[in-house]
Amino acid sequence: MKSEIRSILKKILSYLQFAKSLRFRIIVIIVLVSYIPTMLMRYGILQNYEERAVSLRTSEIQNQSTILANHLVANNYMQDASSETINAELLQLSNLYDGRVLVIDQNFNVIRDTYSISSGKTMISEEVIRCFKGESISNYDRTNRFIEMTIPITTSVEEETNVPQPGQLQNSTRIIGVMLISASTDNIAANMELLDGRAMILQWLIMVLVIVLSFIIARLLVKPLEQVTAAISDIKEGFGTEEISVQGCLETEQIVTAFNEVAGRMRVLDTSREEFVSNVSHELKTPITSMKVLADSLIAQKDVPIELYQEFMVDIADEIERENKIINDLLSLVKMDKKSPDLNIEAVSINQLLELILKRIRPIAEQKDIDVIYESIRDVTAEVDEVKLTLALSNLVENAVKYNSEHGYVKVTLDADHQFFTVTIEDNGIGIPEDAKEHIFERFYRVDKSHSQQIGGNGLGLSITRSAILVHRGAIRVESEEGKGTTFFVRIPLTYVTKS
Ligand code: ADP
Repeated sequence: MKSEIRSILKKILSYLQFAKSLRFRIIVIIVLVSYIPTMLMRYGILQNYEERAVSLRTSEIQNQSTILANHLVANNYMQDASSETINAELLQLSNLYDGRVLVIDQNFNVIRDTYSISSGKTMISEEVIRCFKGESISNYDRTNRFIEMTIPITTSVEEETNVPQPGQLQNSTRIIGVMLISASTDNIAANMELLDGRAMILQWLIMVLVIVLSFIIARLLVKPLEQVTAAISDIKEGFGTEEISVQGCLETEQIVTAFNEVAGRMRVLDTSREEFVSNVSHELKTPITSMKVLADSLIAQKDVPIELYQEFMVDIADEIERENKIINDLLSLVKMDKKSPDLNIEAVSINQLLELILKRIRPIAEQKDIDVIYESIRDVTAEVDEVKLTLALSNLVENAVKYNSEHGYVKVTLDADHQFFTVTIEDNGIGIPEDAKEHIFERFYRVDKSHSQQIGGNGLGLSITRSAILVHRGAIRVESEEGKGTTFFVRIPLTYVTKS
């Protein structure tokens, strides 16, 4: 019992799933779009038939009644309604159209009713009055299925006295009576029902054809998408190649291209992540290995003089310092690489910020007799994260000192326009080789590993700098010539722009 309920639920779920599919939507759209015109066509045909049939019937009755009206006048029926022939003709007319004919004289007396109900009675209806005034009417009552009309019985004036009478027409004829005819339209309605039945069968035949076609069309349209999905699942499950290729319409080709691009980017990211992890482990291992070697050599020796202990301990402390710096740099990088890094934006005097950096760096520069020059073209206050920007600019100035030669110079220039401020850090140091320029912002990249390590570099400084500048929506560019010197150009917006 339970399993039955479960299978029913499963079926309902799969139907619901189908109702959400593109295929279902295509089918529904095609069916609806086809149903509406066939429906309109069906009603259009019926409407048209009805209008034509009623108008034909009306003019037919009008013609026959007008002929009969002339007979009435010719036989003086309005004065003497006993004419057998006319009565028979009237009866024939009413029978022919399954209706009723009333002949009314000028005094609104019914002189003949084919139903023999109203004969001798007075009939003052709006239609009759209007007909006496020369306005014949013809009404179709769809609900009760009959046509009602009035036909004037006219005589030429010459045959009458010259005294103008009410209802006398201008063109020398006079209305002496009215024929009120009502004719059943039952057979028109019956024909319409028959026609509607056939139209409905035709409509449903068309709809069945449309439904079958819509299933085929939906299948054809959705097929390329299903192929894309299958190809993606293959990759997801580890089958198939790394790139998918599906021959379909332009849209699916666009999806395939976009997917391949994303997959390619993911692979690059994956490789760079692997590289990063292996670089991190390597970099973190190096100081530990050195410490281990130092410690082991102390342990291995007996009666080690205290001086040697002290010397080795200084080296171990240096290695710890190095390890510490790598960890701190990595943490700074991780913080800035986050999708939305925590920024503490406030208005900061860039002049003061640079002066502080230079104050801290000058003693180190003096050791190599490097001249540190600061030129501020204007005072700049900008909306920045002080800590992160200090880190970014410090790295650049430190590098300019680190990769400089004895008696060299480092020149820091601050300028601004109405939108950005620029900091230029120029040195006349060792410079960067042409082929290395594009890599210097990569993590752990060092032009000369041994030299850089010797002077305390781990290859993370410039990538931290670049990330910190990018979080301020700024830009960094380098110009350098080997052996002559390097200049870094930094440009940052004066007002912090939040990403829209
Ligand atoms: P490091 O910690 O090794 O200095 P960085 O990321 O700061 O790492 O710099 C990457 C590399 O770029 C350095 O190893 C160095 O070779 C080169 N470099 C950076 N700044 C300068 C400069 N001002 N002059 C010459 N080379 C530089």
